[in-house]
Amino acid sequence: MSPNKKIYVTQPALPPLDEFTEYLKQIWENKILTNNGPFHQQFEKELADYLGVNYISLFSNGTLALITALQALNITGEVITTPFSFVATTHSLWWNNIKPVFSDIESDYFNLDPDKVEAAITPQTTAIMPVHVYGNPCKLERFQKIADTYGLKLIYDAAHAFGVKINGNSILNYGDLSILSFHATKVFNTIEGGAIISPDKKTKERIDYLKNFGFADEITVIAPGINAKMNEVQAAYGLLQLKYIDENIAKRKSISELYRNQLTNIPGIRILNDMIGVNHSYSYFPIFIDEQIYGRKRDELYEELRKHNIYGRRYFYPLISQFPTYRGLQSAKPENLPIATKISEQVICLPIYPLLSKDDQLQILNIIKNAGSRS
Ligand SMILES: *Cc1c(COP(=O)(O)O)cnc(C)c1O
Repeated sequence: MSPNKKIYVTQPALPPLDEFTEYLKQIWENKILTNNGPFHQQFEKELADYLGVNYISLFSNGTLALITALQALNITGEVITTPFSFVATTHSLWWNNIKPVFSDIESDYFNLDPDKVEAAITPQTTAIMPVHVYGNPCKLERFQKIADTYGLKLIYDAAHAFGVKINGNSILNYGDLSILSFHATKVFNTIEGGAIISPDKKTKERIDYLKNFGFADEITVIAPGINAKMNEVQAAYGLLQLKYIDENIAKRKSISELYRNQLTNIPGIRILNDMIGVNHSYSYFPIFIDEQIYGRKRDELYEELRKHNIYGRRYFYPLISQFPTYRGLQSAKPENLPIATKISEQVICLPIYPLLSKDDQLQILNIIKNAGSRS
C-alpha cells in the first residue's frame, strides 16, 4: 500500500461521470431545478419500485426527513428511542420539542430492546423511534404489538437499512413511517438526500406538503412546513445510482464475507451474523472487542489501525445520551443503559465500500490478527 493512502470507513460510490453529464444536459435544457420536477417524479417512482414500497417522499437529507416525519404524525410529549445511533435520531426529537426517553438495546443485534421499552412508557409517551442499526432489522412484531397495545406511533429510523428485506418484503413497510438517508456515507447516496416511506397516499400527500412549506396548492398552506425538497440534480444523480446499486451491494457482500471468514476465529473479536430470511445490504462491518480475551483495548486497536492509515469509526461512541444536550436526562444515566454503554466501548466499524481492494482488506485483517495478545 502506498504510504500516504488513507483508507476510511467508507468511500462513496459515484456513478460514471459521462452518464451524469447526459442527465445534467437535460436539466440545463428544461431549466427545472427543483419543486417536484421531472427527474424527481421519475426517481420517486423508480425508487419505490426498487425498494418494494408504495409511497415514498424524497427529501434533501435524512435529518429533515426525520424531523418532518414527527411533524406529519403530530408527535408530542415523550418518545422512547435508542441511545445507540447517530445523533440525528435524537436531534430530530429535540427539534420538535419532544422529550427523548432513552431505553437500552438488546444484546443480539444492538437494536432498541422491546422488552425494556414497555417499562419506559409514561402518560406522556406518544411514539417509539427505533433504529435498524447497521441495517439489522429490529424486532418488528414485538414493537408493533407494544405500539398497538398502548396506542403509540412507531417511526423507524431506517437510515442504515436501504434495500433490506425480510422474507422478500421491504423492511420499510413496517411501522407508521420509515426514514431513509442518502448521505454520501450511506449504501445508496444522492450526495445528500433522504426519504420518508408512508403506508398510504394521504400520509404521503401530507408529508409532501410539509416538505414544501406546507403548500397544498398555490394559495393553501396547511401547516408551518419546512423546505426539505430534493432538487433535480440530486434526483437525476439518484436515478443513475439506482442502475448500479445491486452491483455495489454485491461487492459489499463479498467484502463482508471475507471479513467474516477471517475474523470468526480470533479470540475476543465478536462479529454479527447475517439474520436468517433477511436480504442485507452490508452497510457497515462492526466488530466488538472483548479486551479481556483479545488482550488489547478497543481504543488500542483503533489507534493501531490509524497508525497504518486505516480509519475505522467507533459507531456509536459516545452514546447519544452522553452528549451535553441529553446527559442530564434521567433516562440518559449509564445505569439505565448498561448494554448500550458496554457495546459503545467495544465497537469499531471496519472499512467497507465497493472499491475497497482485497489487498487493503487483507492488510486490515492482518493488523487485527497481530494486535491481539493471543495471536
Ligand atoms: C445518517 C443517519 C441519519 C441522518 O441522515 P442525513 O441524511 O445525514 O441527515 C439519521 N439517522 C441515522 C441512524 C443515520 O445513520
